[in-house]
Amino acid sequence: MIQKRFEELRYCGTLPSSAGVGLAILRMTQREDTPASEIANVLRCDPALAGKVLRLANIARPAGAPVAGNLERAVLSLGASTLRSTALSFSLLPAGRAGVCGHFDHDTYWSHAIACAEAAEAVAREQGDVDPGDAFTCALLARIGMLALATVHAEVYERILSEARGRAPEQLLVEELRQFDIQHWEVTAAMFVEWGLPDTFVHAVLSLGLPKREPGLEDPASTPLAQVLRSASFVAHRLLEGVGTQGALGDGWLSLLSPVGGGWIGRDRLVALCARVAPTWRSTCESLRLPTATLGEAGLESDDLEISEAETHSGTPTQTQIRDEEADAPANLFPDGLHVLAVDDEPSALRLLERHLVAGGYRVTTARDAETALRVVAEDAPHLLLTDWLMPGMTGGDLLRAMRATEVGRQVYGIVLTARDDEAQVVAAFDAGADDFVAKPYNPRVLMARVAAGRRMLELQHRIRLDRERRATQVAELGIMSRKLHAAAHLDVLTGLPNRRYAMRRLEQEWADAVRLDRPLAVLVVDIDHFKQVNDRHGHDVGDDVLRSTAAMLRARTRRADVVCRLGGEEFLVINVDSDRVGAGMCAERLRSSIEANVVKSHAFEGRVTISIGLATRGDGVSSVHELLKAADDAVYAAKAAGRNTIRTNRRWIPESA
Ligand code: GH3
Ligand code: MG
Ligand code: MG
Repeated sequence: MIQKRFEELRYCGTLPSSAGVGLAILRMTQREDTPASEIANVLRCDPALAGKVLRLANIARPAGAPVAGNLERAVLSLGASTLRSTALSFSLLPAGRAGVCGHFDHDTYWSHAIACAEAAEAVAREQGDVDPGDAFTCALLARIGMLALATVHAEVYERILSEARGRAPEQLLVEELRQFDIQHWEVTAAMFVEWGLPDTFVHAVLSLGLPKREPGLEDPASTPLAQVLRSASFVAHRLLEGVGTQGALGDGWLSLLSPVGGGWIGRDRLVALCARVAPTWRSTCESLRLPTATLGEAGLESDDLEISEAETHSGTPTQTQIRDEEADAPANLFPDGLHVLAVDDEPSALRLLERHLVAGGYRVTTARDAETALRVVAEDAPHLLLTDWLMPGMTGGDLLRAMRATEVGRQVYGIVLTARDDEAQVVAAFDAGADDFVAKPYNPRVLMARVAAGRRMLELQHRIRLDRERRATQVAELGIMSRKLHAAAHLDVLTGLPNRRYAMRRLEQEWADAVRLDRPLAVLVVDIDHFKQVNDRHGHDVGDDVLRSTAAMLRARTRRADVVCRLGGEEFLVINVDSDRVGAGMCAERLRSSIEANVVKSHAFEGRVTISIGLATRGDGVSSVHELLKAADDAVYAAKAAGRNTIRTNRRWIPESA
């Protein structure tokens, strides 16, 4: 029935996937015990998504296990991770498929993705060392990072695409790195990590990126899934260029396909594979009204086919359709502030909770037992509930269950305070309908971070409701996407530390907090000594390992509250939150001596490096972030001049015995 309706509607863009359903699927698949029937029921609310799930299940099914139109069986056969990624990837596709980014052709993108997925599955079957279902999913979603960039950064990406047109594929990656400090393979990898897809997926897509940016992989091209993906890319490009146009592949693609590592199946077999995959790909694309044939003749000079002008294919409008102010949370979502109901039978604990929440800017109501809390829920409809678990009479679990049975109670975001490490209690809390939990005794910062996460979820849900009314359904997913991209864009891929961009923003925030609360603040600029020599003598790979090892040591030897970032090259920044000169000096010395003692092993290299540290603190004539960084930079320069492996401050020396 669903399948039939879907076929009738033919995915025609007048039927956008609803944000609420996508989000519900995400949340349901995050819990392993959600019955397939429940997921299927939610899917039934969204024929477009249901159709996609069915189609995927049917394509990916093992021989002799027909899924046909049975949604529940489709859900079971696809499994949680594929469902999750499908829900997400699908929700990325804007309604009507009019590109949000002028040079990005969504139709061709999806056609390519399907070709790639089918080819990957076929290669995996042939090779036998990769699960064909995995190969299919990984290849289907491999370039979702590109779609994400085009969707979220429409204008900039449009410019990048137009500049990369007709040039080697690497050029696009170089431009992406320059503009966003991230390449689309890395965006995909970050999204895969978020979606809980296997590490093999992550490594496989990263291996397709520019070299020098893969974390911790000696020869990424040699993983079987990476090889499958590479082969599938070849087939997909060939198919989209128009089967039969021999020699049409650009040099860039040939270089990508050079036989690195094992598992290479050879160009001739790939060409044969194209012919084999083509019919399935065509019929799938036809049922989705996606382009298949001889795109190469439509005036595409580019190696990378979706880098083509939208008007070549569809004449769709090319303006940016999603404006930033829509993607951002509207300011007046909670005009009177987010209303939090805090419940604890212990008066002093409750007062403390209230104090934290009020300080965090929340509107707070307190209750000392579950019965009172339920009344507040019914009468005042708070946005978020923060409840203790063990209470005399009704427990936190009873409260949640009772609340979830009511319409208004289902809207409340519920966080439970549980005893530390009590797994059974955590499970029971989720069973009772909790959205999150915080272990007691809690760290106030963690607690507030969880509340803030709840707020974001509520904002998202609220926005989804608004969207429905406005029929602007894709905005909420863009919110999710934009946060994902935000996270990815703030990570240094080599070391896994936050990058310079993050460091600067964070420092601004910490500075503002320090000023407001009149707290001390210190920074350390850390620079590896004679690092160039490491590269020159032992090679760049060893240099990279030294950077990774140094980064890990800096992180390990600082407090949790401290922020450690890679500023670039062999330079790091440590923000000592709430630390004065003495505290930061001790931290600096701890770091200096730890690095001095740290033996880095990499390939044939086994050795140590040292660091020079410039320490600067707020006050003492330092009255802005800019001055703080300048002071720390000057100090590191002084440390270098003083012979390296030492610490200097913007005021006086820190003796090494400090
Ligand atoms: P000093 O003690 O004065 O700091 O000398 P140095 O050699 O450490 O400093 P310099 O700034 O001359 O050299 C830094 C080198 O770091 C140059 C650059 O090639 C290298 N580098 C920058 N980023 C990376 C990277 O990501 N990986 C590797 N392996 N090397 C990098
Ligand atoms: Mg250096
Ligand atoms: Mg340097």
